[in-house]
Amino acid sequence: MCGKIVVATHEEELPYLEKIYQTGLENKIEGLRKIGPEEIKEIEPHCVGIAGLHVPCTGIIDFRGATAKMVELAINMNVDSKLCMQHEVMGIDKKDGFSIVKSNKGDFQASKLIFCAGLQADRMAAKDGVKIKERVVGFRGDYYELTEQGHHKIKHLIYPVPNPDFPFLGVHFTRMTDGEIECGPNAVFTFKREGYGKTDFSLRDTWDALTYKGTWKLFFGNISFGINEYRRAFSKKLFLKTLQRMVPSLTMDDIRPGRSGVRALLLREDGDTRDDFRIVHEGNSVHVLNAPSPAATASLAIGSYIVNEVEKHLMN
Ligand SMILES: Cc1cc2nc3c(=O)[nH]c(=O)nc-3n(C[C@H](O)[C@H](O)[C@H](O)COP(=O)(O)OP(=O)(O)OC[C@H]3O[C@@H](n4cnc5c(N)ncnc54)[C@H](O)[C@@H]3O)c2cc1C
Repeated sequence: MCGKIVVATHEEELPYLEKIYQTGLENKIEGLRKIGPEEIKEIEPHCVGIAGLHVPCTGIIDFRGATAKMVELAINMNVDSKLCMQHEVMGIDKKDGFSIVKSNKGDFQASKLIFCAGLQADRMAAKDGVKIKERVVGFRGDYYELTEQGHHKIKHLIYPVPNPDFPFLGVHFTRMTDGEIECGPNAVFTFKREGYGKTDFSLRDTWDALTYKGTWKLFFGNISFGINEYRRAFSKKLFLKTLQRMVPSLTMDDIRPGRSGVRALLLREDGDTRDDFRIVHEGNSVHVLNAPSPAATASLAIGSYIVNEVEKHLMN
């Protein structure tokens, strides 16, 4: 529980900061309070801002460890439970009230199914006969990490005030449980859903994305944002410039390229990205169609919601 600060660096961000503060109050966030430039410096000596929020109850977690624990607990609760890694679901057939899940390593029969397929959620839904108009598009996020020389410049977590026009948090600094400090991510449209490299390409994914009206609506609505993100993806100097908004003393030698991730966004035909959870049920299945960040943080709550959906709609 290392705490986090959200930092405004420009006057125009202040109304959004106030909105986040009010939302935090409504949600009874423990210890949440407004801070000024002096206190920002006390908490993060290298950070510069005109106003901020301190959220002392924010924590970090080894999420790989957390998921391993969830599997262990699930198997302990029911010894017949099984985790099947590397089984790619290729199709779903329906027979006598059951679903036959066809994977690359054999078939499984089930009376009820819960799909949480992230970047493939729309395709899985289609395979299961669920009709949805939206499509998933992937946005890659590249991170840098602080070198030994830059490490002392960040203590915990520093976030900018998110721009409400975009479904991303903005480039932030995150202390990880292993002590490393990551900074990022940017947000670039990816030509491959599971494309973690800058030049990864899949013809099918690109075709699916570029023949979809929503993708073009999103592009045209955010042209300058998109171009800037691409420039930043290929220029360490530009990435650094963004980081320097909150930590001006950072230098080129303080950062080195780190890992990447791809965020799945359920995109509407009108180009609107649904920055909210979307969970639907149909027949004997529940589909998690959109689970953007903070779906990892909220995973236990989402799990409870899904269990409720199953009990309500699939248990009769
Ligand atoms: C860089 C990055 C940083 C993030 N940071 C945070 C954070 O700090 N806090 C937070 O709360 N959230 C964070 N998120 C968001 C969080 O990771 C997602 O919201 C969450 O993982 C979504 O869960 P999901 O189950 O919908 O999809 P996923 O976690 O993507 O899981 C989907 C799974 O389905 C599998 N799958 C897909 N197709 C098939 C198939 N055909 N057959 C079998 N399996 C299949 C995939 O392999 C994958 O394992 C971050 C995301 C990214 C990319």
